[in-house]
Amino acid sequence: MNQPYSSVSTSHSGPPCTDGDSFEPVESIHGREGSRLLFLCDHASNRLPAQYGTLGLEPGQFERHIAWDIGAADVTRELARHFQAPAILARFSRLLIDPNRGDDDPTLVMRISDGAIIPGNVVAGPEETDRRRKLYWQPYRDAGTAAIDAMLQAGCIPAIVSIHSYTDRWKGRLRPWEIGLMWDSDPRLAARLHTQLSLDPNLCIGDNEPYGTLVGDVLYQHAMLRGLPHVLIEIRQDLIATPAGARQWAERIAAPLAASLDEDIFKVKYYRTRAGSGHRIMLNDHEALRQYEL
Ligand SMILES: [Zn+2]
Repeated sequence: MNQPYSSVSTSHSGPPCTDGDSFEPVESIHGREGSRLLFLCDHASNRLPAQYGTLGLEPGQFERHIAWDIGAADVTRELARHFQAPAILARFSRLLIDPNRGDDDPTLVMRISDGAIIPGNVVAGPEETDRRRKLYWQPYRDAGTAAIDAMLQAGCIPAIVSIHSYTDRWKGRLRPWEIGLMWDSDPRLAARLHTQLSLDPNLCIGDNEPYGTLVGDVLYQHAMLRGLPHVLIEIRQDLIATPAGARQWAERIAAPLAASLDEDIFKVKYYRTRAGSGHRIMLNDHEALRQYEL
């Protein structure tokens, strides 16, 4: 791309944080040797490379969930610190390209998100999408692959934990869950974590709520296709919007997560995906689950 997208000028707010020409698409946190957990944070950042300006959006839009998962990066860093585990975080906004979508997903570069038209994406053709895929999406995916390869080469089968956050309301409806566990058909870590979190009777836990999983998403690539235990944890963004809230929720998750890491789960085991099937299985539906095992 030769021409930068024009920014909407406002007096009260600057553009999202940028790094000039040397934009680094991935943040890697190194863990201790022998760590059995790998944390991923796909929507950690609301940054854009400088040449994209604000994608033609009013800069305040970059504070909203459409640009990133509010609080998710802080929770991820806290959990990585707690477990002394490696973590990979994307350093670019999902408005640029969504690292958690498959490479051929039509919503990879969103043209409209929660009512906001994104001018810099409306004009992005296949060439521009391809450029963003190569420069940002692929390095993030490759960093996850490299981290898993390194752990496997060191003789450790990692469990992969992906951290996201969601809005407290969607289309006017209040979302009751404080935390949600997303999983496809491999229940190993999700079921154990659900059991451990359920020991707190005050916690409202979503089971594949508020979302489901997608073929081609990050955990599909890094965990389902490789037979690795995993879970995607969604936390309601209002609970983790401040560093103190993020720290508190990381602490709240750490003990149940540690208690979920049975020796049994650290095996390579393949499950047939049910993503996109529209078939919803709950974690206590063991009969239905069995048919998805290979
Ligand atoms: Zn997310």
